Order: sequence, then structure tokens, then C-alpha cells
Amino acid sequence: MIPVETQVLIVGAGPTGLALAAALQRAGVDHLLVEVLQTAQTTSRAGVVHAHTLEMLQAIGVTDALEAHGTPVSHFVVRDHDQALLDLSFDDLPSPYRHLLMIPQSSTEALIETRLQALGGSVHRGVSVLGAVADANGATVRVRSATGEQMIHPRYVVGADGMHSIVREAAGIGFKGAAYGESFVLADVRMDWPLGAKEVSLLFSPEGLVVIAPLPDGSYRVVATLDDAPKKPGIDDIQAILSARGPAQGVRVTDILWASLFRVHHRLADTYRKGPFLLMGDAAHVHSPAGGQGMNTGIVDAIVLGGALTRVVRDGAPDTVLDDYARTRRPAAQEVLALAGRLTRVATVHSVPLRKLRNLILRALDRAPGFKRGLAMGFSGLGRARYSVLPQA
Ligand SMILES: Cc1cc2nc3c(=O)[nH]c(=O)nc-3n(C[C@H](O)[C@H](O)[C@H](O)COP(=O)(O)OP(=O)(O)OC[C@H]3O[C@@H](n4cnc5c(N)ncnc54)[C@H](O)[C@@H]3O)c2cc1C
Repeated sequence: MIPVETQVLIVGAGPTGLALAAALQRAGVDHLLVEVLQTAQTTSRAGVVHAHTLEMLQAIGVTDALEAHGTPVSHFVVRDHDQALLDLSFDDLPSPYRHLLMIPQSSTEALIETRLQALGGSVHRGVSVLGAVADANGATVRVRSATGEQMIHPRYVVGADGMHSIVREAAGIGFKGAAYGESFVLADVRMDWPLGAKEVSLLFSPEGLVVIAPLPDGSYRVVATLDDAPKKPGIDDIQAILSARGPAQGVRVTDILWASLFRVHHRLADTYRKGPFLLMGDAAHVHSPAGGQGMNTGIVDAIVLGGALTRVVRDGAPDTVLDDYARTRRPAAQEVLALAGRLTRVATVHSVPLRKLRNLILRALDRAPGFKRGLAMGFSGLGRARYSVLPQA
């Protein structure tokens, strides 16, 4: 039986919902985490956890486990075919985590859920939120589970329910933006890859951008934009993309472990809070996976919101602390949306003279330590750390 009353109802047990539940559980804040799926998702999806996210995840004690399961990579290299244009190193980041941590999203979620359980918390699976309205004491939320439909009466409702958030809809919060013109192909593959497993490569090409990143099991994550993509990408499709856009020789795709084709939107919620309704993660912001920022920004939202809800619900701080959450975190997503958009535009320049100019500029910037440091801070999330701290009373 699902409890009827709770202080905080979290809708959705993706990485952000799980992280928030762990934060509230650790702080002793009454909450309920519901998830429509009966079992955890097993697909790879977001493949990188950045330094700032690892720092923030210390708050729920999950960073060491992630570090133990992931593969650290300390270089991000921008290339035009096999020609290196810009080599970004994370060795000098002002953080204990001077790398990109490659780890499939399914593992990240499993490790956070394991931590939630160790803290005494749990996920109520097979529970679907159907609708919600604000009322005098918070909200009334209609849910369906195996035992039928019932109402839950939380003080606050957190939409961690992804891009098509029902919480955002119930709150009447707009989600402005559009879909990118091209589709994205994502695949985890086994292959002979001449650039090896020591770097994440961003390959620029007029046909579209490609990111290649090594994963802990020896496979590689391939992310590519395509104007005209096959519904179910196969070995030949990935081979064709890499042959056209990758190093001239030595690439041979031998197996596909997981592949997905999807249309990506760039959208941002008008606000992260309206009355008892709060948003975080994909419910609040979505954009291109090119910079690997989506899940990371969402997890940071969750940790910051966990702190804000603890102050309000447990410590009796004024409810306006939740407005501080909304005001503080939204600009982080605005910056991420701008970064992902810039990256995509620069990567896919078509005209030959413009490509030559771009490559010249990037080679010059490769010798500009200040520029490279700024870029590494942006990728790692450390450059947006000011959006992870709420004003104190
Ligand atoms: C194919 C694919 C590839 C991706 N690749 C990358 C990548 O390379 N890099 C990157 O940074 N990001 C990537 N992303 C995005 C990344 O997966 C998301 O940013 C991340 O999962 C967001 O986490 P979240 O917790 O906000 O939402 P989600 O992970 O979407 O979780 C939402 C949860 O809410 C549940 N839910 C929804 N509605 C209800 C309801 N009414 N009642 C109860 N439960 C509900 C869902 O079942 C789901 O479990 C990818 C996404 C996809 C689909």
C-alpha cells in the first residue's frame, strides 16, 4: 500500500529522482518516490559523469562507488577526421576528480539506487501519476498502481518524470523550445578504433558531428547527428558514419551492444517552481547530448533541491528557499543549452573555406591556455558551480 500523506512526492526514479530521494532519506526528510516502470531501465544512455557532478554526489555518498565502476578519461580531443585541432586536458581541474568518468547511465542509476536502499529508502515501482492539483495543504495527486487508483496528499510534488513530465503539465509550466533538425544516433559498439581508449574524441564533419567515448567494458559510445537516419541503426550504418567522418584508416565496427535513434529537443521550463510543484532534470531542461551535460545538470538540480527541501521541511526555513532553488538552477540549464548549441553549430560547418578558417582558429586556440581552461571548466560543470549554491538566510 502506498502512503496517503507525505511531505515530498517525487515522481520518477531516473537518475535525478533517485538522487533526490537519497538526499532526503539521508537528511531524514519524509518523502515518497514513485516510478511507473516495474523494473529499472537497463540501457546505456548518458555515458559520462563530470567532475562537478562527482563533487555534488558526495552529499549522498555515492561518488566512490561511481569512481570504482567507471573509466576515467583525462583528454577531450576535437578532430577533423584524424587531425587533432584542440586537445583539452582535465589534469589541472581544481577538483579531486580531474577527468571525465565514463559509465553507462544504467550503472549510475543502479549505484544511486543501491545507496538509497542502504540508507533505508526505496522506490515504489509500478505507480503511475495520472494528474495533480494544488490545494490548501499542498497538492492532491492521483496515482494508479496494481491495487487500483488512489489519491496522495503531499506538501510538495517534484517532477523528476522526464521530458514529457506530467507534473510540469499539471502545474501549467511552459516548456519553450524546439526539436533540432537532425536526428541523433547513439550506439555502444565494439570496434577497432585507432585513436584508442585514452581520449573522448569529438569529430567535426560537414556530414554532422560524432563523439566517440570509451566505456568501462572496452566498448565505445558513438553519438552522431544524421539528417536521414535509419530507424534501427546496424553495424553497417555505424561503420558508414565512422568511415565518412572518422580517421582515414583502421576503423572496423565488429558488434553493436545497444543502439538508439532519437530526435532531440532544446527546451527549458519557464520556471522550476509553481506553488507546490517543483521541476528538475529532463522535466525542466532538455538539449543535445553532444556535450554530455543532460543527466549531469539534472543530478546537480537534485542535490541542490534536496538541500533546499531539507531546510524548508525539516528545519522550518521559509518556503521562499524553494524559489531560490528555482532562480539559482535555471541559469545553469540556460548556459548548458547555449554550450550544446554552439558545439553543434561549430561542429557541422558545411562550407569548405569556413571549415578551413574554423580549423585554423581552433589550432590557434589550442595554444591558448586561458581559453582551454575555460572550456574544460565548462565541460566539467565546475564553471557553473556558482549555480549549485543557494543564498543562505
Ligand atoms: C536514447 C537516449 C540517449 C541519451 N544519451 C545521453 C547522453 O549521451 N548524455 C547525456 O547527458 N544525456 C543523455 N540522455 C539524456 C539522459 O538520459 C537524461 O538527461 C536523464 O535520463 C534525465 O534524467 P531524469 O531523472 O531527469 O529523467 P528520466 O531519466 O527521463 O527519468 C524519468 C522517470 O520518470 C518516470 N515517469 C515518467 N512519467 C511518470 C509518471 N506519470 N508516473 C510515474 N513515473 C513516471 C519514467 O519512467 C522515468 O523512469 C539520453 C537519453 C536517451 C533517451
